[in-house]
Amino acid sequence: MPIDPTAAYDDGNVFARILRGELPCRKVYEDAHALAFHDINPQAPVHILVIPKGRYVSWDDFSAKASDEEIAHFIRAVGAVARQEGLVEPGYRMLANVGQHGHQEVPHLHVHLFGGRQFYAMVPE
Ligand code: AMP
Repeated sequence: MPIDPTAAYDDGNVFARILRGELPCRKVYEDAHALAFHDINPQAPVHILVIPKGRYVSWDDFSAKASDEEIAHFIRAVGAVARQEGLVEPGYRMLANVGQHGHQEVPHLHVHLFGGRQFYAMVPE
């Protein structure tokens, strides 16, 4: 079910549980403020999720409330993961779903990185 991107942060969400070590993940990157891991249901040969460690529900929440330092750090982490995974030269797609129309299902900000094949339609049906 899509989530409400303006709701209060839910500490029981699956990514919060991964951050606390209560659930496993296939980690590809971690630093003091960000974590990246493989999506459990990949939609492309490479499908990685990058999340900030801070308690932010969505891109909307993060862009409104995070500090400039947190925002800069997260954007750099997303870029670092793409470089680390060799996605830059062939190219990749990044996506952040927000709320109902965006079909966001996990209420902790995450950026999807898709790679490993050619992508075409930007917004497929
Ligand atoms: P979104 O629709 O943008 O909220 O995407 C949520 C993503 O989280 C989906 O692509 C799921 O496959 C993925 N996901 C859900 N649970 C897990 C998990 N435990 N580990 C890794 N990825 C997950």
